[in-house]
Amino acid sequence: MSGSSGSLIPFNRPFMSGQETAYMLEAHANGQLAGNGPFTRRCHAWLEEHVGCAKALLTHSCTAALEMAAMLLDIKAGDEVIMPSYTFVSTANAFVLRGAVPVFVDIREDTLNINEALIEAAITERTRAICVVHYAGVACEMDTIMDISARHKLFVVEDAAQGMMADYKGRPLGSIGHLAAFSFHETKNIISGEGGALLVNDECFAERAEILWEKGTNRSSFFRGEVDKYTWVDIGSSFLPGELIAAFLWAQLEHGEEITARRLDIWQRYHQAFAAVEGAGHVRRPRVPQDCGHNAHMYYLLFPDMEKRSAFITALKDEGIHTVFHYVPLHLSPAGRRFGRASGNLDVTVSLADRLVRLPLWVGLEAQQERVIETALQHIR
Ligand SMILES: *Cc1c(COP(=O)(O)O)cnc(C)c1O
Repeated sequence: MSGSSGSLIPFNRPFMSGQETAYMLEAHANGQLAGNGPFTRRCHAWLEEHVGCAKALLTHSCTAALEMAAMLLDIKAGDEVIMPSYTFVSTANAFVLRGAVPVFVDIREDTLNINEALIEAAITERTRAICVVHYAGVACEMDTIMDISARHKLFVVEDAAQGMMADYKGRPLGSIGHLAAFSFHETKNIISGEGGALLVNDECFAERAEILWEKGTNRSSFFRGEVDKYTWVDIGSSFLPGELIAAFLWAQLEHGEEITARRLDIWQRYHQAFAAVEGAGHVRRPRVPQDCGHNAHMYYLLFPDMEKRSAFITALKDEGIHTVFHYVPLHLSPAGRRFGRASGNLDVTVSLADRLVRLPLWVGLEAQQERVIETALQHIR
């Protein structure tokens, strides 16, 4: 490492609120380590209250929650699901597992979210759903998207993996589509290592969601005393995490506001620091539309070309600062080519994917953020 001063600054460092281990011990003392215990119920109640959804169910991951969504929508072989190509593989995989074809639509230049103006051109007889991704915790243009879905009788799934505690016109992300999914992966804002949640907004899916979640049984209604037998009633799988995960997550949810506030401070500091280099035309900073309340999930910069971006990542790495690029567009990936298809050209996706770099953003970075900023500024020109 040449010219590095101080310790290595990682891209991400998982934050602990302090109560995690105490709650995990409490879960053990409660005598239940399997899922759907007191901590799971507390997390569900928190999510239902804060998101305002009809039902929330913890899952092993956002991936698992998206798989549940595809099952609940009864997605079948040959069905088409419209989504951005600029996203994580799980957005597509969840539907491909049911035999569906992901139809990739280009993104907007400003937010890097699906370009709602291109969605209708991608709709065919086989289209069943639109899966939107709120990139960096900045909302997609949901009014337009919900209107399109209503006119064409399509379902909307929000991949809100990055959208926890962000909002669109005052409505929490995850509360707008028929179904939505959160991620509590260690790289997200609120974490449990691996973890996620399915959010059910359309009441008609609530009962079946619980059945799929409990391996296709009516175990939940049985425990509530609604039925006198606990039996196999539908397809399903083991989607529920154990109580240790729920206990860890509860310690994070309790501090959700504080975590988000601290991330927003870090984000703002970056945003101010890079205003001048944006003004000089060297990089572009993130854009947050007026009616979107974001959650500081990510701070990224867009360089004029891939060469400049790569040089920046290498230069910062040499100084002990870990920055990363993001998605390889799905339509260019081997599985994306095999299972999906593009609708129109995806020029914005391809261009932005080559030019984006994400800076370290985690609670606790504050003490070292000045070094990240100074070093970054030395290498932006
Ligand atoms: C992180 C992420 C996922 C996957 O989340 P897991 O909890 O790891 O399954 C899916 N979609 C998007 C947009 C993500 O950022």
